[in-house]
Amino acid sequence: MSKPETPAAAANFLRPIVQADLESGKHAKIVTRFPPEPNGYLHIGHAKSICLNFGLAQEFGGECNLRFDDTNPAKEDQEYIDAIKSDVQWLGFQWAGEERYASNYFDQLFAWAVHLIEAGKAYVCDLSPDEARAYRGSLTEPGRNSPFRERSVEENLDLFARMKAGEFPDGARALRAKIDMASPNMNLRDPILYRIRHAHHHQTGDKWCIYPSYDFTHGQSDAIEGITHSICTLEFEDHRPLYEWFLANLPVPARPRQYEFARLNLNYTITSKRKLKQLVDEGHVNGWDDPRMSTLSGYRRRGYTPASIRHFCDLIGVNRAGGLVDIGMLEFAIREDLDANASRAMCVLKPLKVVITNYPQGQVESLELPRHPKQDMGVRVLPFSREIFIDASDFEEVPPAGYKRLIPGGEVRLRGSYVIRADEAVKDEQGNIVELRCSYDENTLGKNPEGRKVKGVIHWVPAEGSVECEVRLYDRLFKAANPEKTDEEGGSFLDNINPESLVVLKGCRAEPSLANAAPEERFQFEREGYFCADLKDSQPGAPVFNRTVTLRDSWGQ
Ligand code: ATP
Ligand code: MG
Repeated sequence: MSKPETPAAAANFLRPIVQADLESGKHAKIVTRFPPEPNGYLHIGHAKSICLNFGLAQEFGGECNLRFDDTNPAKEDQEYIDAIKSDVQWLGFQWAGEERYASNYFDQLFAWAVHLIEAGKAYVCDLSPDEARAYRGSLTEPGRNSPFRERSVEENLDLFARMKAGEFPDGARALRAKIDMASPNMNLRDPILYRIRHAHHHQTGDKWCIYPSYDFTHGQSDAIEGITHSICTLEFEDHRPLYEWFLANLPVPARPRQYEFARLNLNYTITSKRKLKQLVDEGHVNGWDDPRMSTLSGYRRRGYTPASIRHFCDLIGVNRAGGLVDIGMLEFAIREDLDANASRAMCVLKPLKVVITNYPQGQVESLELPRHPKQDMGVRVLPFSREIFIDASDFEEVPPAGYKRLIPGGEVRLRGSYVIRADEAVKDEQGNIVELRCSYDENTLGKNPEGRKVKGVIHWVPAEGSVECEVRLYDRLFKAANPEKTDEEGGSFLDNINPESLVVLKGCRAEPSLANAAPEERFQFEREGYFCADLKDSQPGAPVFNRTVTLRDSWGQ
């Protein structure tokens, strides 16, 4: 089989924009930011944004900030902050200076809200959330002015101060910008700037009981940090006029510009933090870092390399046209990396004992096998003696057409070793094959046998010296290309979970060199796929291996 040609990196429409801004002198240096909300773990969609923001900064000698967009304390948590920092670093990026928090700017944002009130551009509104929704109108109907819209500056200042002082319950009042209730852009219909929310915040504790909205926070945080290019996903395109309205009506220190790109959608994959959290909370997976999850910590545990994920992000490019990316491209990126860089090894998943009857009792030969067919990564040593294990599927009494492995009376080569012939299958009372008795041709080590062709090559491990291990065969978590789509009325994405996404095999046998595999060490198990030692559960002498990806794309076949 010929190797697929490496596709070239796709275009990134922001690169020429940044380049032009530097060449024209509009900016002496670019500053970008990656702004996650700490309400879940980062997923593969975030990787696209991370590679884009940090990548542009790197390429053009600028800086990229990590800013936690933490305006919704009810859903946020320190655990997520820690995980996000470690995932960004694992992916290979380092933010400029300390990590930042939008909550660091709450005092400034409050002062800017007061500024808008004083300028007659914001007011305290007492409509309940339901009433406010009714006043807002719809895409086809203009909204109506709130009855509280014409409050005096003094009254607004007083009420806003009392909101801050905690005098009112959640939802009783809100501070809104006074823009235009008839605007065709719903985001400009007097958007909310501050909500009352008596909640403890992971950064600011109990200092605040009012919290700024995302829209009121984001652009001003960009301005405070001197962000030059504020890059977000397309759903914020309609928010851009509001983003610019705030910058134009506030004494901000800089005027960042917002650019939008299409978010990553990957088939067979969920990239919504809310749904990923549901998978975790309801126990459909074993935590955020379950190797089937689309989280970066899941891919890491599965055995993906940071380089393969960065490469994938290069391959998909950055544009404004949405589209669905085939998961095969992500799998291609990891296969390519592991093919070039992972050490080869042998592991027998369903061991069948083979006794080589004509091999001398007590004799042991040390066979050296290269760790890699192309790269010089040294050798591994396998002891060869009278008893070995092969995979049960490599022997068939009634072989299907084209079967090239071991059959009664037939010959096969043991990888890196001799040619053996199957003489007898030993069975238990139920007729299951429990052992094979074979003979070997002593003139076939590193040589073709005389006078006959042996086509098949199978993997094996020595019975003595191989290590018992657990192997976790991971597959796609969803069996439907679009997991969101369910046939039945009222169904959910959970109905599309692949029941075979994890198959745990115990009692597998790995070659001796794998006994002390380091956590996260990656291998190609010959003929089986790419595997890595599990980050958490693998122990010296008792390794646990996760299947990262199969050798070839055989999904659905
Ligand atoms: P989710 O829908 O999963 O909750 P989000 O956009 O609300 O995602 P944030 O934590 O706000 O999550 O995202 C941080 C950054 O990552 C944002 O700039 C956002 O645009 C970007 N991002 C999130 N999901 C994707 C995606 N699928 N593709 C590209 N960028 C994404
Ligand atoms: Mg968001």
